Amino acid sequence: MSSTQLVIALTKGRILDEVLPLFAQADIVPKEDISKSRKLIFDTNRENVKLMVIRGSDVPTYVEFGSADMGVVGKDLLLEYGDEGFYEPLDLRIAACRLMTAEPIKAVPVQGRLKVATKFTNIAKKYFAEQGKQIELIKLNGALELAPSMGLADAIVDIVDTGKTLKANGLEPRELIAHVSSRIIVNKASMKIKNSVIREILGQLREAVERN
Ligand code: AMP
Repeated sequence: MSSTQLVIALTKGRILDEVLPLFAQADIVPKEDISKSRKLIFDTNRENVKLMVIRGSDVPTYVEFGSADMGVVGKDLLLEYGDEGFYEPLDLRIAACRLMTAEPIKAVPVQGRLKVATKFTNIAKKYFAEQGKQIELIKLNGALELAPSMGLADAIVDIVDTGKTLKANGLEPRELIAHVSSRIIVNKASMKIKNSVIREILGQLREAVERN
């Protein structure tokens, strides 16, 4: 990779829909419609900037190891993955949601160890330890909301936006663990080697965030 070529890792779905308008304001526009393409890497109007589209949980890995210079990723994944391996210079203030515990509506407090199902196992472990609560963790990869009604867990730790998903599954939000929004992360070596182009883009994105 040349010292001026820059690869930015994004994720499809909710974050992409909100991040592309912000990138457009910072004069970074993909040459084709990312949401309609099966490609994973895209040229942009800027000759030296490419966009890569991967799973959110892989963005920190790509950026930490320098295969992507920058990335956009939810704070939930940064809290789960750990944020030591890269810089986190900018909160884009998009895709806002909350990480919360949730339990069946009006559930009575559980005696003994609470069984908690989540894909955010590191976050849950740390949160309940800070509360001084002993829990049994059950790792799931999706459809967490089903776990309590199927008798697998007493509670879940999940992302909540409107709360509709919880309600539709007979659950209610209980404790707030963290506010979440999308962040820009930057590879540590790239920040030095490609400093001028990264600073330029960060400045433009910061202005776009302030305008919104
Ligand atoms: P809601 O029903 O509006 O509370 O949305 C909850 C579900 O939408 C969660 O289970 C998440 O999978 C997903 N979700 C909501 N907001 C976000 C976000 N900002 N980033 C990622 N997933 C989200």
